[in-house]
Amino acid sequence: MTLYDAFNRPLENLRISVTDRCNFRCSYCMPAHKFPQGYRFIASADLLTFAEITRLARIFNHLGVHKIRLTGGEPLVRPHIEQLVGMLSRIDGIREIAMTTNGYLLPQKAKLLREQGLTRLNISLDSLDEAIFRQMNGGHAEVSDVLKGIEAAERAGFSSLKINTVVQRGVNDHTLVDLALYFRERGHIIRFIEFMDTGTLNGWKYDHVLLTDELIQQIECVIPLEPLPAQHYGEVVRRYRYADGTGELGFITSVSNPFCGGCNRLRLSAEGKIYTCLFARKGVDLRDLLRSGASDDTIIERITQTWQQRADRYSEERSSGQRTEKVEMYHMGG
Ligand code: SF4
Repeated sequence: MTLYDAFNRPLENLRISVTDRCNFRCSYCMPAHKFPQGYRFIASADLLTFAEITRLARIFNHLGVHKIRLTGGEPLVRPHIEQLVGMLSRIDGIREIAMTTNGYLLPQKAKLLREQGLTRLNISLDSLDEAIFRQMNGGHAEVSDVLKGIEAAERAGFSSLKINTVVQRGVNDHTLVDLALYFRERGHIIRFIEFMDTGTLNGWKYDHVLLTDELIQQIECVIPLEPLPAQHYGEVVRRYRYADGTGELGFITSVSNPFCGGCNRLRLSAEGKIYTCLFARKGVDLRDLLRSGASDDTIIERITQTWQQRADRYSEERSSGQRTEKVEMYHMGG
């Protein structure tokens, strides 16, 4: 079966945040000054267990979800995360299990994740310039740490890795052509993400956004690009190929060219709330049902109601007034 929302968008993709913790402090997500030493993250007893997440994933699969993306915070800081990948990969109807990571722990984890059935990896890297990368990740890692993670993923058998890069005007925008050419040579697909007003902590202003068309112009000064067609419904990325046939890159344009019309994604937080939009004000709790002995049918009823009433299209409405109250991105996963 498939559930449809108020705009007739099907529920097809589930993003599962497995922790609100992270070993980085990226300025556009968890700015370091907002998370002092001793900051209280979700207590482990309040986190969904792997068994609870797997039970929910089975229910979502019954409701039409075939793709799962594991996120955080940073998913690799959740102990034994590869075990969850194994549990999810044993659900018949789940065709794809992907993960978005900052790559720092991949040298220890890449092989285990692959063995347990992880199918795709997106690895975040905002610049090859050491000083700028450190500035953007709150001084918690060097470029070489992430490059070692990418190499570990390659050795583990992951190919065509997606490299996620958040683009901030006046911060890393002058280093992006180098980043694109670097991964073009290595057969990986870079995804440039327009800086978004996620949550309430990153001090977002429209002037801080380098619009995708500007970035494309910058890249085309060096190498021409050709647009590629979308691969499937709900695809968030605008795909391009290098005109000389040497690879592909993509742009995620939530500010300059919103894609709410085909948004088929639901988010599940580490403490068991579902969010119908990345810019949601609040979520709907499922953990209370899980822990009070509710049947699958009761849980299905709450998910069905939540999705069918869904009318989110924040990115399309952003220009008519920014929302001040939003759940933080690290809390529900990107
Ligand atoms: S703003 Fe909300 S509705 Fe629009 S694409 Fe993003 S998550 Fe989907």
